Amino acid sequence: MAENQHIAYTTMSLLDFQERFPDEQECYDYLVQIRFPSGFSCPQCGSYKTGIVAGRRLWQCKNCRAQTSVTSGTIFHRTKTPLHLWFWAVFLVAKDKRGHSALQLSKDLNISYDRAWLMNHKIRHAMAFRDSLYQLNGAIEMDDAYFGAPDTGRIGRSTRRVKALVAVSLTDDNKPLFANIRTVKRLDNRCVKKFATTRIMSGSTVHTDGLKIYRCLSGLGFFHKAVPVKQDKAKLLRWVHIIISNAKAFITGTFHGLGDKHIQRYLDEFCYRFNRRFMEHEMFDRLLLACATAEPIGHDELTR
Ligand SMILES: [Zn+2]
Repeated sequence: MAENQHIAYTTMSLLDFQERFPDEQECYDYLVQIRFPSGFSCPQCGSYKTGIVAGRRLWQCKNCRAQTSVTSGTIFHRTKTPLHLWFWAVFLVAKDKRGHSALQLSKDLNISYDRAWLMNHKIRHAMAFRDSLYQLNGAIEMDDAYFGAPDTGRIGRSTRRVKALVAVSLTDDNKPLFANIRTVKRLDNRCVKKFATTRIMSGSTVHTDGLKIYRCLSGLGFFHKAVPVKQDKAKLLRWVHIIISNAKAFITGTFHGLGDKHIQRYLDEFCYRFNRRFMEHEMFDRLLLACATAEPIGHDELTR
């Protein structure tokens, strides 16, 4: 996953981080560097002919007159939170592989819970955006799963719990590579089709159980291999089941009493971390780059 060719990734302790980014100016300069590694060019027209607006941290394009700040077009767009605090949040979230709750973040940064919650969700949005740029390919295991609080009285696929489709790609020697999880309204052909065609590269071999909803896969450009009902599904779809149970543990371990409404974002975080599990020392730079390149998202969209 070559996410950025311009930065030498480094491992940082808390002390290293404090020394590297002591104030707002250092954070600002670093953000400029990772957003515009070849120098500033106008995002509207691509021109390199630009000037600085006096007294403000804005570039003005001499070609199309568009004004741009270093935070426009990023998750930091129109933020009232200083970049210095954002950098700390990204660092702490990146460092804690079990996930960093809003409560913990609010204590660590001495900010309100609401602000920490919003920052955390914006960072998760950036994680999801980054992963949406990639498709799984090769041999894939795919299955459906249920997340959230147990739904007493209903069993199996009639449950009212949050339903999701889960896919994991495998190496040639049958080890997991990358995972993707999407919550769905209902488990039907349409959802399988949408999930598979957006998240899995055409031509991949997709292994599923014998459920009818997966039969559409062979007509969508995939090689579909369904596990016969009599065979041991747990053994044949081993990795996707491990991913599902790890995702459940991640959610309940760090984010107790999580409402169903935001489950997708926590699953996005789980997948982002899982997909970079061998890149721990690079996590701060990767996550900061994700935040600096993801489309902006507003409070309303996050709380909807
Ligand atoms: Zn321009």
